[in-house]
Amino acid sequence: MVLRKSLGCVTYSLRRFLAPFTSPDTLHPEMSLPFCNVALPVPLRTTFTYAVPDALRDSVQPGSRVLVPFRNKSLVGVVVECVQHAPPSTKIREISKVLDFLPALTPKLIELGHWITGYYLAPVGEVFRAMLPPVTELRTERQIVLTASGREVADKETAATRALNPQHHAFLSHLRDKGGVMPFASAAKLGLDDAALQRLRRAGFIAIRESMLGRKAKTHRVIAWKGVAGIAEVVQTPALDAKAEHVKAALGARGPLPLAQLLRVAQISRSVVERMLRDGLLESWEERVDPAEDPFDVGYVPPAHELNEEQESAMKLIRARFELGEFGVLLLHGVTGSGKTEVYMRAVQETLARGKTAIILVPEIALTLWIGRQCRAWFGARFEGVAVLHSALSDVERAREWWRVRNGEARVVVGTRSAIFAPLENLGLIIVDEEQESSYKQEETPRYHGRDVAIVRAKMENAAALPGSATPSLETYHHARGGKYELLTLASRVEQRAMASVEIVDLREDFAKTHQTSPISSALHAGIAECLAQKTQALVLINRRGYSWSVLCRSCGASVQCENCSISMTHHKQRNRLECHYCGSLKPIPKQCPKCQSKYVYFFGEGSEHLEERLRKEFPGARIARLDRDTARTKRQYQETLGAFAAGALDILVGTQMLAKGHDFQRVTLVGVVSADFSLSLPDFRAAERTFQLLTQVAGRAGRGELPGRVLIQTFYPEHYAILDAVKQDYPAFYERETQFRRVMAYPPFTSLANVIVRNTDLEKAIRWSRQLSEYFSPHDGKGLRILGPAAAPLAKLKREHRFQFLLKSPRRSVLANVLSGAMTFCDMKEIPQTAVLVDMDPLSLM
Ligand code: ADP
Ligand code: ZN
Ligand code: ZN
Repeated sequence: MVLRKSLGCVTYSLRRFLAPFTSPDTLHPEMSLPFCNVALPVPLRTTFTYAVPDALRDSVQPGSRVLVPFRNKSLVGVVVECVQHAPPSTKIREISKVLDFLPALTPKLIELGHWITGYYLAPVGEVFRAMLPPVTELRTERQIVLTASGREVADKETAATRALNPQHHAFLSHLRDKGGVMPFASAAKLGLDDAALQRLRRAGFIAIRESMLGRKAKTHRVIAWKGVAGIAEVVQTPALDAKAEHVKAALGARGPLPLAQLLRVAQISRSVVERMLRDGLLESWEERVDPAEDPFDVGYVPPAHELNEEQESAMKLIRARFELGEFGVLLLHGVTGSGKTEVYMRAVQETLARGKTAIILVPEIALTLWIGRQCRAWFGARFEGVAVLHSALSDVERAREWWRVRNGEARVVVGTRSAIFAPLENLGLIIVDEEQESSYKQEETPRYHGRDVAIVRAKMENAAALPGSATPSLETYHHARGGKYELLTLASRVEQRAMASVEIVDLREDFAKTHQTSPISSALHAGIAECLAQKTQALVLINRRGYSWSVLCRSCGASVQCENCSISMTHHKQRNRLECHYCGSLKPIPKQCPKCQSKYVYFFGEGSEHLEERLRKEFPGARIARLDRDTARTKRQYQETLGAFAAGALDILVGTQMLAKGHDFQRVTLVGVVSADFSLSLPDFRAAERTFQLLTQVAGRAGRGELPGRVLIQTFYPEHYAILDAVKQDYPAFYERETQFRRVMAYPPFTSLANVIVRNTDLEKAIRWSRQLSEYFSPHDGKGLRILGPAAAPLAKLKREHRFQFLLKSPRRSVLANVLSGAMTFCDMKEIPQTAVLVDMDPLSLM
């Protein structure tokens, strides 16, 4: 109820907020309202009404962050609307402080926040918290900037000028004489208070800019090959020893590198570099460090390709959409290596040329750096115009990037999931790269899907949405087939490069032949050996990390389970312990079975750590590294390993699905997939889709350069269509088969799905609450929706909480939404705590 009411008001007040202003001296009605509703970072489904003290009337606007008293503390919240009346019979407290002069959130973002709250049934305060910049002690300097129309007023005697208060006119002229910028504090000395400045700002005559202070100009030493940009041009170099060759290889592949970076990539010591500097082979200089910058950025020049025919016709359709100037979704379905990035860059370029702004969402941090680097190279000066937003930045860095965007200093934003909330105005384009990736789904409150929010935001802003992938999600492709989205297809790789050839290794046959239980089949072994002989590179993928992922007793069959979660613990050999991958709890390695005390405990199921050990054993001379969440704990470690591989300092890279995404390695000729089936055995309706996507993506990493690529997929289920279609890299064939299954089973895209989990550490409470909720649900079952459950969730216990599950299915989303919002009201009535009931709309996983 509360929600619907407030939504109505927002639409109303937005219209007024956007109304044009005739004279800056007319007080805006919105600003003089005595109360406002504030979203606070608490897990409750309501906003809170506060009184606006007279002194703050002009500064409190929808979107402003405010400090308010809440219970017995102070909280930072955001004003979502200003209202005339407070709800009766409640004690209304006053706002204590307004934090922003320029409201942090734009009206469109407030509208988007309300949509998320309603659609995902998420607590309103948590939604808006996710949209705001981090609250940090930013040292900012607030400045007043004269706008173009302000300059016109200051210069000329127009109707607007005459309507203007003479003091204000004098102020604008003064500002113009000062070069159009002055510190905020100076205005007070000239007799203009905050209210007057707000009016001038709303009239469009001035803008307020927060610029960061205390940017320490940190520098680092950059090393380059002497004199020339590319190593290839070095004609005569003295004979180099092995170490110098490594330096040459690293600098050749990457261009100039910061010293620390070079030492790691080339795996040499500082003295080697010093010696080469003395010998005149290298040169060095100091360069400013930008924390948001990718260390490989230095000297990067983007390839300038002429678009091929397919890329050109995709651009034509994108252009046509821009011409229309209306919302629309265009799916860019391009096989791996078909040059989607090039299309993205041109689409952004044309968006900017039309005076609009763009967001590029990517599924992981590493790709932010890669795409960010491309954008900086494509779009203007090095640190201007492009902002990067992701969770690996520090709060200060993130806040700084965020405010650059809010102040209009950056017009392109590259980032992961939450960058969809970037406060850009005049948005023209939202790209969602690898739109099927599950990392777009936030698996904690608010549980939104970044791609879906992107499409809704594009619609609200009248922009174009451009999801792209080699393996689109079934939902997105379904919409494209059905005509709801436009379909742009890049069916072949650039420059007629062949797709990699994919072969299946039937592990049953391999075992029958060899009677070996190595994770590396004889075919894969031979393939890697060939790579090493030809000095090309191999990627080996396994989809579990750790050494063994199960610890079993041979006598009684018990496995070692986590005490907090109903899941078996993973053996990590180097760390010499068992770990739970869900809650992080640790256990020593058991010497005997915890249940029957037998000594016959064995470790079962290879993980990435085990695979790395095997590879080192089987290929003693090879340079091998592993990339998974254990070895790449930080952005830096991740980049170093990838950088070393890209620079040719490694022969074999082994790892988890981290390897599968996006990277453009030119010398990879072999990709081995060690266990492809594991995900097929999960109780999950998306298992086949995930397997197909993973295999196709990873196959796309082979043969991207001049050298042809080969992919070996080891499996126990060689007849499964997810594997067979991945071998053919035939997306439409897979889509046809998988949609048949989804249709018959009534799964998305043919029904809407919601997963409701009731959870508590106290088993009895969890049972009682799910029984109560079941009483609410059962009368609705069969009336336009199916309700399954309550049943123990597949992960019946997680982080000490017992979990029960309801699954709601309906062909009509509105039916689902109504029943769910009724359920929330019901829970409030029965005093079931809000944190105990977790609603997952459009769940990606039913675990
Ligand atoms: P995708 O993202 O579709 O897998 P990329 O965008 O990474 O593919 O492009 C693959 C490679 O092809 C890149 O090295 C890119 O520079 C190159 N490329 C892109 N467009 C062209 C083109 N029109 N002609 C030649 N090479 C191109
Ligand atoms: Zn036992
Ligand atoms: Zn656990």
